Amino acid sequence: MEQRVKELLNRILHPETQRGLMESGFVANVTANDEKITVVLQFAKVRDPFAPKIQRQVQALLEENFPALKETITVIIKEAAPKAAQPAEKRTTTGEIDHVIAIASGKGGVGKSTVTANLAVALRNMGYRVGILDADIYGPSQPKMFGLEGYLPEAEQVDGQDIILPAETMGIKIMSIGFFIKPSDALLWRGAMAVNALRQMIHQTRWGKLDFLLADLPPGTGDIHLSIISELKIDEAVIVSTPQQIAVADVRRGVEMFRNPQVNIPLAGIVENMAWFTPEELPQNRYYLFGKGGARRFAEENGVDLLGEIPIIQSIMEGADNGTPSVSIDSRVEPYYRDIAKKIVDKLRK
Ligand code: ADP
Repeated sequence: MEQRVKELLNRILHPETQRGLMESGFVANVTANDEKITVVLQFAKVRDPFAPKIQRQVQALLEENFPALKETITVIIKEAAPKAAQPAEKRTTTGEIDHVIAIASGKGGVGKSTVTANLAVALRNMGYRVGILDADIYGPSQPKMFGLEGYLPEAEQVDGQDIILPAETMGIKIMSIGFFIKPSDALLWRGAMAVNALRQMIHQTRWGKLDFLLADLPPGTGDIHLSIISELKIDEAVIVSTPQQIAVADVRRGVEMFRNPQVNIPLAGIVENMAWFTPEELPQNRYYLFGKGGARRFAEENGVDLLGEIPIIQSIMEGADNGTPSVSIDSRVEPYYRDIAKKIVDKLRK
């Protein structure tokens, strides 16, 4: 019976190793008899972000296969071995980065990438050294935001390791998954392939000294996010939402992902994008096309800060299309992002 349990355990793949739990060495102990089954899992990392999900998968699979023992199946996660027992940390180029800020969203199309690009410019205007890691494998848009389409990063060999040179424009270092894949192929990037590419971008980009690295995450919450989170030490997360999307479960799932005890990344807060519309000819009027105050309510209910509200402004859209973030050209837009940037910086100082 133990053998059967082990076979079942090996059918569950760890998203990072892409190998079964037995094969990956993540099963510390199995006891199984006619009365009960106990499985002890032990992961290589002290805080493996996939642990809770795998624990649930194991529980469900065993319950399905041994329905009679449903009440007596226990799946435990044992603390990982102390750090010293693990292989030495691999070399990484992120050592000179002071703060990593992840920009996330529940769904695509809410302006996450636009906010990332403009925040980067706002932070640069404040005198900080800034980089952007565009990890949105489903729709990498930073190359377009900065007019860098077609940029082919060069690599150089340092001590036998390939180091990739980021693009640099407006004093901002930019590395995008879009430099490596055609937009039409983005949807084919799944699982291990995307994870490997992201890992290389994170650890092998010559960022140099940076005050802030903004990571433009893919929309939603999934294994790819957990992989990025486990590779990159993120100091704070920002969630971008539109008024329509704020009520939808995806945003709450985003909040829960960062608060998950295994992940435990502080949330700087929420940015409400496309909050209202003001026509040029009626500058005093604000039209809340998709409802008013939703993000503020959501923020209060979930104990998250509202970092700012950004209206719909034509130059924001045009800037994103033309490769010049609006903050650098439109003085009406700049204060919105400067304000948000300041709040983020202040939170990190606390
Ligand atoms: P995401 O990264 O969430 O998929 P994008 O940043 O690509 O979204 O934005 C989606 C579209 O909305 C783009 O065409 C962008 O120019 C536009 N957009 C984003 N924010 C604003 C805004 N505040 N005002 C006007 N257009 C905006």
